Amino acid sequence: MSINRRNFLKGALAGGTLLAAGAPVEARPNKTMPPDAVGLLYDSTLCIGCKACVAACKEANDMPPEFSTTEQLWDTPLDISGKTLNVIKMYKDGTGETKDVEKDGFAFMKVSCLHCADPSCVSACPVSAMTKDPVTGIVGYDKSICIGCRYCVAACPFGVPRFQYDRALPQISKCQLCRHRIADGKYSACAEVCPTGATLFGKVTDLQAEAKRRLALKPGEESQFPRGNLNTHDQSPHTAKVAHYIPEVYGEKEVGGTQVIKLSAVPFDQLGMPKLPERSYASVSETMQHTLYGGLLAPLAFLGVLTYVAKRNVKDDENDDK
Ligand code: SF4
Ligand code: SF4
Ligand code: SF4
Repeated sequence: MSINRRNFLKGALAGGTLLAAGAPVEARPNKTMPPDAVGLLYDSTLCIGCKACVAACKEANDMPPEFSTTEQLWDTPLDISGKTLNVIKMYKDGTGETKDVEKDGFAFMKVSCLHCADPSCVSACPVSAMTKDPVTGIVGYDKSICIGCRYCVAACPFGVPRFQYDRALPQISKCQLCRHRIADGKYSACAEVCPTGATLFGKVTDLQAEAKRRLALKPGEESQFPRGNLNTHDQSPHTAKVAHYIPEVYGEKEVGGTQVIKLSAVPFDQLGMPKLPERSYASVSETMQHTLYGGLLAPLAFLGVLTYVAKRNVKDDENDDK
């Protein structure tokens, strides 16, 4: 009734061959955004902290107010949450006297989904409730598919998706670039109401060119900045003095690029924007998964072969005993 040693070794050899076949999978490159992807350019130096964009976002997306004061008189969200898709945060150092200065100054930063070119929330979602539109590149969410696992919350390098813990039927909450408005021929509400053009909507390639144009301007000189929709010129431009920009477009390279890009005169990490590699998290995790599963398949196949050999040998031994 024992396993025949010769057959065991034959099985082990077959399993070894399968193991060898489970060679590591090549790392996949970053995915790129569609050519006609749309997004936002947020220029911190033009932002006056009026929060019109926060109010417009709430109204356009039917989100409830959120209170951070005991009086509960005003909608006063301090961060994005299950009730708030967009906030303006403030940086302040020392005396906080001068705008757009790192030391003893202050600056603003818009916080909302960046619509990554290769989004890790989409990669992590096991049921495809998070998807990236093949034309606009907008990262959308389908509450009817979502199972509430919160993998997207853990996967996002910017901490964007939020879970509505306080609701009986919780959903994930995140900016979807006002895709319902875009479907109606409009554009992002936050960009539409921004009085200075600090939040500007448009085709990402044109927003990137506009960002580069601003970086090439002479600091201190007066210049004109488009407002609203960069591609339709639906609003008259805003006139302001050119700031001392950090020579960097945030979102141009981070995790493979984002469709919401940013300019600032204060280092981005001071404004809460993380320093990230150019390699997308999705490409890294998907490569690891494939390598891991590829490596797991071989041992599983090996185990299967061993089980088959053991069963067959037991039968053979039983027949031999007869
Ligand atoms: S509406 Fe424009 S200027 Fe006002 S807080 Fe928002 S981004 Fe800044
Ligand atoms: S910022 Fe986060 S939630 Fe938005 S697309 Fe990128 S990974 Fe997804
Ligand atoms: S694009 Fe729409 S949902 Fe996103 S932050 Fe702006 S107003 Fe809010």
